[in-house]
Amino acid sequence: MEAKTPVILSADKEVKQTFRSMIEQTTDAIITSFDDNAAYSGKNVYELRSQIQDLGFLPEHGTGFEETLETVRKNIMPHLLRTWSPLYMPHLHAPALTETIASELIIGTFNDSMDSWDQGPAATEIEEAMIHGLVKLFGFGEKADGTFTSGGTQSNMGALIAARDWFCNTRLGHDVKKKGLPSCYAKLRLYTSEVSHFSMEKGCHVMGLGYESVRKIPVDANCKVDIKKFEMMVKQDIDDGLLPFCAVATIGTTDYGSIDDVSEMRKVCDRYGMFLHADASYGSALVMSNKYKNRMGNLGICDSVTVDFHKMFLLPISCSVVLFRDKSLQECFELHADYLNREEDEEEGYINLVDKSLQTTRRFDALKVFMAFRTRGRDGFASIVDTAVGNASYFYECLIKDPTFIAPVKPEISSVVFAVTDGDQANKNIRKRLMDEGTVIGQTTKDGRVMLKFTLLNPTLTHADIDRIIKRIKELRTV
Ligand SMILES: *Cc1c(COP(=O)(O)O)cnc(C)c1O
Repeated sequence: MEAKTPVILSADKEVKQTFRSMIEQTTDAIITSFDDNAAYSGKNVYELRSQIQDLGFLPEHGTGFEETLETVRKNIMPHLLRTWSPLYMPHLHAPALTETIASELIIGTFNDSMDSWDQGPAATEIEEAMIHGLVKLFGFGEKADGTFTSGGTQSNMGALIAARDWFCNTRLGHDVKKKGLPSCYAKLRLYTSEVSHFSMEKGCHVMGLGYESVRKIPVDANCKVDIKKFEMMVKQDIDDGLLPFCAVATIGTTDYGSIDDVSEMRKVCDRYGMFLHADASYGSALVMSNKYKNRMGNLGICDSVTVDFHKMFLLPISCSVVLFRDKSLQECFELHADYLNREEDEEEGYINLVDKSLQTTRRFDALKVFMAFRTRGRDGFASIVDTAVGNASYFYECLIKDPTFIAPVKPEISSVVFAVTDGDQANKNIRKRLMDEGTVIGQTTKDGRVMLKFTLLNPTLTHADIDRIIKRIKELRTV
């Protein structure tokens, strides 16, 4: 007999029983998909689309939970990505740590919201405690603060908004929050490397500055900002009457994992009165590793830092923070509403996190970080990070010993860009063939040539797995 799907939770005995059974059935359905080691079922895009379209949209009468779960188990779940497969390595797209999957159930069940204290009392206090730990971990002082966001893109955007408002306030005596952009807005310029993330352009567009306000700094052979060229560009732009307001260092570029030198970039920014943001979406996890931490540089000298937990920290999507050297930089997001975050609340000791955030209603993602940190400890994370970085160097060493391959950039974190020497088409074919076999790797370009990419995040990947993949790639060259 099918139990009736309860509308919401309550103390009712039957509701408790049915809820437990719903979670158990869901867990059972999930667990059956662990047996398949392939990252993707391999189903063709057109077949998948038509199968999904056949599922329909909004039935007039609901079918109840059990039938719905069965549809998901049969028609959707088999073609979801098994991100935990060691054979999945195309993007900065992580397998989730087990305890953080459990934490998602708690987050979803209680559904606290981070906008005001009365919508998430313990949630607010946990987020505050995690932010205060994180600012210290990344080398900031007492005045620092930050907020959780939906991802690196939004964290970067928050930092760019703070940078623009800070520059206009302190250098131009113009309050963007009240008055909008200053009349000289088209002269504002942001500097970041030519291999940095596209969220800089998106951010500048949203801020009303446009893509052309983003100046791309050439990189050296290791894909790091060329500091001399950076300074020359800033000088030239000032001579031309432009207004350099911000530079962004990338701590782990998306393709190469290359890390810009923040201390050299800081010196240039100080000489010209600019804000320095570090986009550490990828590389921030190095902070956990005694062995590799110094590769990151001292991020505490930056004005703001983006940390993405849903990348190398292996947390479920979405989970990110933006940290600020000085909490006053976040004032650009503060706006008081009588119904939500009254000014008198502050005097009574309440914290309304909407004051620091671009979002209003916001998930309790901080619980995932709390549970992961407590479950694993610093040393647990160090071992995860060290394994990924170690695997990337092992893979790179194998490639450069073998004349079949080129690998132009030595990895500093855990991604390796490489190609077989048989030309663009051969590389493209290899990626497609591997995908058909359930091994998913990345593809990008370098200096106009098609390159393949491994982004190694999965701590269960072994050297033997890497040897096997290299062997398979060599076989596929000639097929
Ligand atoms: C992934 C990435 C981003 C964007 O982060 P999302 O969490 O995907 O929004 C920004 N910068 C870098 C360097 C990244 O690798």
